Amino acid sequence: MPYMKIDDKIINQLSKILQTRTRVIQEPEILENYAHDETPLYHSMPEVVIKPETTKEVSEIVKLGYEYNIPITPRGGGTSLSAGAVPLFGGIVLSFERMDKIKEVDQKNLTVTTEPGIITEKLDQELKKYNLFFPPDPVSLDSCTIGGNIAECAGGPRAMKYGVTRNYVLGLEIVAGTGEIIKLGGKLLKNVTGYDLINLIVGSEGTLAIVTQAILKLLPRPRVVVDLLIPFPLVSSAVEFAITTISQAPQVAAIEFIEGDVIRLLGRFLKKRLPYPEAGAHIIVEIDGDCQTEVRRIYENVGDIALKNSALDVLVAEGEKDKERIWEPRRNIGDALKELTKNIAREDLVVPKDRVPQLIKEIKAMLKSYNAQLYAFGHLGDGNIHTDIGIEKGQKINRSKVNEIRKNVYKIALNLGGTITAEHGIGLSKIAYLPMAIAETNLQIMKEIKRIFDPKNILNPGKIFQNNH
Ligand SMILES: Cc1cc2nc3c(=O)[nH]c(=O)nc-3n(C[C@H](O)[C@H](O)[C@H](O)COP(=O)(O)OP(=O)(O)OC[C@H]3O[C@@H](n4cnc5c(N)ncnc54)[C@H](O)[C@@H]3O)c2cc1C
Repeated sequence: MPYMKIDDKIINQLSKILQTRTRVIQEPEILENYAHDETPLYHSMPEVVIKPETTKEVSEIVKLGYEYNIPITPRGGGTSLSAGAVPLFGGIVLSFERMDKIKEVDQKNLTVTTEPGIITEKLDQELKKYNLFFPPDPVSLDSCTIGGNIAECAGGPRAMKYGVTRNYVLGLEIVAGTGEIIKLGGKLLKNVTGYDLINLIVGSEGTLAIVTQAILKLLPRPRVVVDLLIPFPLVSSAVEFAITTISQAPQVAAIEFIEGDVIRLLGRFLKKRLPYPEAGAHIIVEIDGDCQTEVRRIYENVGDIALKNSALDVLVAEGEKDKERIWEPRRNIGDALKELTKNIAREDLVVPKDRVPQLIKEIKAMLKSYNAQLYAFGHLGDGNIHTDIGIEKGQKINRSKVNEIRKNVYKIALNLGGTITAEHGIGLSKIAYLPMAIAETNLQIMKEIKRIFDPKNILNPGKIFQNNH
C-alpha cells in the first residue's frame, strides 16, 4: 500500500497531539536541513518535521502514522554516514533536539538515565562533574546524539579497550511501529530474563522502534590520559606496530590511523605544517589509567615498540593543549575531504587487523582505473578502517560508476575476511550491497523481526532492506 501524503487534516492532528503549531514545521527552507545527513549524494525532503518533548507525544504521533500509513524517520544529530536519517519516502521526521534531558545520574549504581536527543559530548561533560565516564566516543561526538548512537551502535577510537555503545545499554524505553510504549531492561548488570531485546534494538537504525529513553552503564573516569603521535615511514610498519602493541601493551585505549595522503590533505585544509608531513602514516595512541607511574610505564613501552617498528618519532602529549594538537587533524578529516575533494563515498570497512595493508593496497590499485583517490584513516585498533573515496573537485562521475567502485571495495574487504560496515550501518547507502555480506536466511530472519516490531513498515522505511514496502 502506498504511503499517505500529509494533508491539512494530518497537520491539524499533529498540532493537537503537541498542543502547539510551533513544533510542527513545514517551512521548506527548514525542511531542507532534514533532507540529508552527512552521507554524500543522498537527499530526500520530509513533508513535515516534528520536535516531540515527551514519550507520550512520540507514541501518539506513531499511532497516527500507523493509522494513516505515514512514514516516520527518527533523527538525532543527522551525522549518519549511511544516509540513515534521510526520509526516503518523505512523511514525518521526528527530530529529538528537544528531548535532550538527563533524567538521573545514579552514583551508587553507576548509571545515567537520559533522553535520546542529548549530544554525546554534552553527556560526557555532565558526567565529568561526577568523575564518571561513558566511554563510546564517535569522532562526531560534538554533534551526534545518544539516540543516534544507540540506533547505529556507534563505536569510536576507544572501542578497542572499552567496546561500543551496545556494551553500555542496560535499559531502554522504546516506541514500536504501532505506537506502543515498551520498557526493556533496567539498572541491571546481569539479566537473562527472556530474549535479549535490548541488543536487537541497539544497531537497528530506527527501523524497529524509536528510542525515547535509555539507561546507560558508566565507569569511573580514568584520572590520567596521555596521547602519543607516532609517524611511520610506511603503512605496513604502522600496522605491524599496532599488532605488536595490542599483544604486548593491551591496556592502550585507542590506536588511530591516518594514511600519508590524508595527512597531506589535512595540512592543506588546516593551513599548517603538521609534524612529519612526508610520513607514510601517522598513528595516535591513547593510554589511560588511574596511576601516573603506571600510565608512564605503558607509554614508554609503547614508544619502544614504535621505535623497533621504524617509527620516525614518538611525540607525547600530557597537557590538554598538546592533546588537542594531536587530535585536531583526526577530527577534521571529514571536513577536509568535503572541502578539498569531491567525496563520493565514505566507507567503514572492517577486516582482521593484519590485513589492513593488503586492504589499502588492493583498493588503491582498483581505483587507478577510475581516476579516483583513496583516503584511508580510522580505528586501526579494531581493524575498522575508513576508506573514503574522492575525485578532484570539478571532475564528474556518474552514479553507476560510483556504485561499481563501491561494489569492488566491498568485494575486496569480504575476500580479506572482513565486512562492509563496522559502525555506520547499512542505512540507505549500503542497501544494495547487504546481500553480498550476509546469507539470504539471515536476511529473511531480519525481515520477520521487522514485521513484528513495525507491522506496517512505517519506521524509517527503505533502510537496511531493499523492497520492504
Ligand atoms: C565526522 C564524523 C565522524 C564520525 N565518526 C564516527 C565514529 O567514530 N564512530 C561511529 O560509530 N560513527 C561515526 N560517525 C557516524 C555517526 O556520527 C554515527 O552513526 C552517530 O551515531 C549518528 O548519531 P546521530 O545522532 O547523528 O544520528 P542521525 O544521523 O540523526 O541518525 C542515525 C540513525 O539513527 C536513527 N535514530 C536517530 N535517533 C533515533 C532514536 N531516538 N530512536 C531510533 N532511531 C534513531 C536514525 O533514524 C538513523 O537511522 C561519524 C560521522 C561523522 C560525520
